[in-house]
Amino acid sequence: MTDATDPYADVGVPTVINGAGTKTRVGGTLMREEAVAAMAAAAESFARISDLQAAACDRIAAATGAEAGYVTSGANAALTMAAAACIAGDDLGVMDRLPETPGVADEIVVPRSHRTGYDHALRAAGATMVDVGANDRQRGTGAVNVQPWQIDDAIGEDTAAVAYLAKPDTAPPLERVCEVAHAREVPVIVDAAAQLPPTRNLERFVAEGADLVAFSGGKAIRGPQSTGLLAGRSDLVRSVALQHLDMHAAAAAWDPPETLFDVDDLPGVPTQGLGRSFKIGKEELVAVLAALEAFLAEDDEATLAAWHDRAEFVADELGDLPGLSATLVDADKTAVVTSVLATVDEDTAGIETTDLVRDLRRENPRVFVGGDELPAPRFTVNPRCLSDDEAATLVRRVAAALERGG
Ligand SMILES: *Cc1c(COP(=O)(O)O)cnc(C)c1O
Repeated sequence: MTDATDPYADVGVPTVINGAGTKTRVGGTLMREEAVAAMAAAAESFARISDLQAAACDRIAAATGAEAGYVTSGANAALTMAAAACIAGDDLGVMDRLPETPGVADEIVVPRSHRTGYDHALRAAGATMVDVGANDRQRGTGAVNVQPWQIDDAIGEDTAAVAYLAKPDTAPPLERVCEVAHAREVPVIVDAAAQLPPTRNLERFVAEGADLVAFSGGKAIRGPQSTGLLAGRSDLVRSVALQHLDMHAAAAAWDPPETLFDVDDLPGVPTQGLGRSFKIGKEELVAVLAALEAFLAEDDEATLAAWHDRAEFVADELGDLPGLSATLVDADKTAVVTSVLATVDEDTAGIETTDLVRDLRRENPRVFVGGDELPAPRFTVNPRCLSDDEAATLVRRVAAALERGG
């Protein structure tokens, strides 16, 4: 890319060689060309957002097996809207007051071992988090973190929902949690933001009983970074639409599509809801639908195999550098992305891993490797956001940084 077409150079900002994976702070993902084309075309003409959401509803339902779906401004916003829907239901008065919840059942029961920084998204809707269980398994102090009966025990008359974080190793199984919650007539919200690929996971969580599932549009789907998908029960998606669409409408002329909700069932036009802060543009909306279609058509085994090969190349090359050893993590190639775990012998390398990772980020272009385990002498390389050329550059730049440091 020449500087003339580099929008980052235009604003004086270095590009990033992204070995950290689909991380929001380095731009998430590269959009599919189908999504870019849809976005550019949509910028040239208007469409009614509620019509686009109705079309999205059908497409997301078809892709996930859910009754309905909605496009949000990221999986995080999908979680906020999910919580808002579970708290408010069809009550326009409660929608109007959120995130204030006086006198309203606003508790979201969540296993402690499922809590992440992202559950601020649930609290943003006014939810009160009710933690259950412990973190015994991760800490090595017990065999289980939480049992289904404990979730049941935490459900009471103030419960609005149960929250569940979907990861390959999360327990208890989603089906069991849904059984417990549904027996108490409580919906289950699943954060599956990063659980794609495999493509089949689009259907999996709904099939296992989830009432609402949040996916990131800006990770594997490779739509705009600022998109997410919410899939689930039609009554809850209806509540999302009522709290998300721009409601600056004259009652007499208000005519939203019936796919989303029936005006005759409402006492009037809702107010601008909690979701108005998370609006989604026509360009992003059609772009994520185009990306979803392309994602569904993709052979994800081939994608995973290509990523695996790239990870193998990086691991082989890094492992040859003085002071570094490298292994493959999650190398089963079928469901998750293979990544590289590099371990630094800091004495031999002559540089602390933290300095190495930071130095790489200060170069131009910036080189991002995964540093979640710092200050432990380890870093990771995720192959999914690298081209083969960039993977080779990344290796060269690590070698040069080691040479300087050592
Ligand atoms: C990425 C991620 C999110 C946020 O998704 P966005 O689409 O960036 O809003 C939420 N939860 C988990 C577990 C994630 O990995």
